[in-house]
Amino acid sequence: MHHPLISENHSKLRSKIREFALNEIKPIAQKLDENAEFSVELTKKMGKLGLFGITIPEEYGGKNLDTLSFIIAVEEIARVDSSQAATIAAHNSLGIAPIYNYGTTEQKQRLLPKLTTGNHVWAFGITEPNAGSDAKAIETTAHLKNDQWIVNGQKVFITNSASELSMGVTLLANTSNDINQKEFSAILLEREFANYKAESINNKMIWRAADTGRLVFHNSTAPKENILGERGKGMRIMLETLDSGRLSIAAIGLGLAQGAFDMAREYAQQRKQFGQSLSKFQAISNKLVDMDIKLELARNYLYYSCWLKDNNLPFGKQAAISKLYTSEIAKEIADEAVQIFGAYGLFKDNDIERFYRDQRILRIGEGTSEVLNMVIARHLEI
Ligand SMILES: Cc1cc2nc3c(=O)[nH]c(=O)nc-3n(C[C@H](O)[C@H](O)[C@H](O)COP(=O)(O)OP(=O)(O)OC[C@H]3O[C@@H](n4cnc5c(N)ncnc54)[C@H](O)[C@@H]3O)c2cc1C
Repeated sequence: MHHPLISENHSKLRSKIREFALNEIKPIAQKLDENAEFSVELTKKMGKLGLFGITIPEEYGGKNLDTLSFIIAVEEIARVDSSQAATIAAHNSLGIAPIYNYGTTEQKQRLLPKLTTGNHVWAFGITEPNAGSDAKAIETTAHLKNDQWIVNGQKVFITNSASELSMGVTLLANTSNDINQKEFSAILLEREFANYKAESINNKMIWRAADTGRLVFHNSTAPKENILGERGKGMRIMLETLDSGRLSIAAIGLGLAQGAFDMAREYAQQRKQFGQSLSKFQAISNKLVDMDIKLELARNYLYYSCWLKDNNLPFGKQAAISKLYTSEIAKEIADEAVQIFGAYGLFKDNDIERFYRDQRILRIGEGTSEVLNMVIARHLEI
């Protein structure tokens, strides 16, 4: 692929991840989805491949690569399976990144080397039963007592929070001492010590082989030093983290859309009706052309957004556009791909059926399309 932002190293990385995805993920993706099984073994293999801590320095066990490398890796995994891509995207951008970006040296030295081994993942919890898009409505509280944070409340739909690999969660909590005030802080809760309940939610339509958990805190604890960043600055930390997270959700959308296109293209060439390949009918080739145009635009814009981030330029608006656009085209491309497969696309032994379901989360997680419209409108100052 010739692209001004893609170096030889990016291309080598893409080939390596593609090979892994085809050899290690593709053969088992359908079964894991059917069984709603988070695979510890596969997750560890992805860690060993170097997918945990892609962008953080080697001193913490990371690979010290740029954002674009991370995005290419997620894209290639999503081209084969969104559940595994979600595990990697969330662990890097929501788990590791805020600890690296806002943590003290002690926090980084204590947590990051473990989180880059491939044996542990870390979660990021904002969402609660009464607080989805409206993050400020969170009801989870954390109060200091004898130099310990005492945490009460619950978080729902938290990626990488409940499997045996989950080592802890960065939590958004109200730390105000005044019952009528809200002071949002981010706190690191380590599962081994904090004493919270984590249960998997397995009855999902999407990302069935990824770990989504419900966390319940009843006087759960963390040492005072486990505050992430400054007290009262938790909302900013969470929102900045989501800006970057959106790039990786966009990468999942792009990879999923590319995978759906590849399957539809191949099938349209093989399948014959009325004496010729489906791809020879203009109605079908128009669909494939339309998909290709959307993929080109989505990929270029996402890579440009990564370039902004890698060059320390503002990228919040572009990340929101990328996430919004790729999740829309993933919906359209997966839908048209199923159309090209006809009846054969409607059965679970065909990967396209899973892709069609998996795209549905993309317009909801990490900012719904409606909320992203609000984010973009704010950038337009209207
Ligand atoms: C598989 C999965 C994994 C997830 N992982 C995580 C995670 O790791 N960490 C985490 O904290 N959360 C996670 N989430 C939660 C996710 O971020 C929320 O689902 C999302 O923020 C939306 O919140 P909600 O589902 O409560 O919807 P709501 O906020 O209740 O929204 C419902 C509908 O109303 C619309 N709406 C809401 N407010 C407005 C408005 N002001 N104007 C117009 N429309 C509006 C929304 O766009 C949406 O269409 C995950 C969710 C899923 C499904």
